[in-house]
Amino acid sequence: MAEMPPMDDRALKARGMMKQRNGDLFSVRLGVTGGHVTAAHLKTIGELAERYGCGAVHLTTRQGIEIPNVPYANLEPLARDLASAGLTLGLTGPRVRGITACPGHICQHGLGNTQELAQRLASAVGDRTGLPHKFKIGITGCPNGCAKPIENDFGVMCVAKGYRVFVGGQMGKKARLGDRLSFTVPNVEALIRIIHASLDWFCEHAAGRERFGSTIDRVGLGSLVARLEPLAG
Ligand code: SF4
Repeated sequence: MAEMPPMDDRALKARGMMKQRNGDLFSVRLGVTGGHVTAAHLKTIGELAERYGCGAVHLTTRQGIEIPNVPYANLEPLARDLASAGLTLGLTGPRVRGITACPGHICQHGLGNTQELAQRLASAVGDRTGLPHKFKIGITGCPNGCAKPIENDFGVMCVAKGYRVFVGGQMGKKARLGDRLSFTVPNVEALIRIIHASLDWFCEHAAGRERFGSTIDRVGLGSLVARLEPLAG
């Protein structure tokens, strides 16, 4: 077996390998979009959890999957086998995080295909890094809001004529509900323009390492709306 490199907790965390409190064990986060995982991938994840962890997985509050209790020596073999199976690691840090979504169009209340939208948005902005802080996107298929759009930095709600958008939501020590934008976004192309512009505005206006909602509170929602509204047409 190849010699393991020296342990670098921060670098490992950025790759989705979080050190646990109990010794040198790690919890390995997988990349999941829209809470959608194929049966074949679920089977593989189970097998890898048995081979490299403790035979169990943890389902996160944001529809993610983590394999806990992985010894340091097993991290790289696990990452290699995940990649071979077409699975990705759930990268952490100041970047767009895994996008959550409710079932959407298969739900009897659904007004849009949230799963397809989650994939489109992940392709469009999922690799945006170098942000002031983490940036969470949540998509919900109707105003019932099961995917909690107002708790995400950027929340999308399918409505009859497009998308309603909420900005600046967050949970945690400093909870903040997202602000609803005054206009409706008519299609996916405009939505992608608006997310990119939101990320640009965030990078330009953030004071150091702060969440999107804090930047909105400090600079003013009007500044953001003035940037975004012309892109909705
Ligand atoms: S938000 Fe609406 S579409 Fe999505 S799961 Fe809830 S009720 Fe169904």
